[in-house]
Amino acid sequence: MSDCIFCKIAEKKIPSKIVHEDDRAVAFEDINPQAPVHVLVVPKRHVQSVAELNAADAGFLGHLLLTGAAIAKQRGIADSGYRLVLNTGKHGGQTVFHLHVHVLGGRPMHWPPG
Ligand code: 5GP
Ligand code: ZN
Repeated sequence: MSDCIFCKIAEKKIPSKIVHEDDRAVAFEDINPQAPVHVLVVPKRHVQSVAELNAADAGFLGHLLLTGAAIAKQRGIADSGYRLVLNTGKHGGQTVFHLHVHVLGGRPMHWPPG
């Protein structure tokens, strides 16, 4: 989508610190990190949020989550633990309307979220 910031990052039209790329997804450092590790996993296909997906997208969504888990392992936070987050819609706190998985770790997380 032409005016979508994450499409532009995935297409490398705007710079980011990419930490992983494959045929379906890219992962890059969040510009405003909320934890020592804060990476965003973004599909190359433009989808607004998980709310648009259906059963046919199970593999697509699973790939994003497993990529997040692999990045956590690479970054050395798999044993200490981490959080995979999909903020969805207004009350979910979503600000960029291109589906993304936050990989957050390197410090204890709190519950419930704010
Ligand atoms: P959301 O609130 O939609 O779940 O998360 C959007 C995330 O994207 C935020 O954590 C924000 O810091 C990050 N972000 C927004 N614009 C950019 C950008 O241009 N580059 C990078 N690397 N991250 C961004
Ligand atoms: Zn997009």
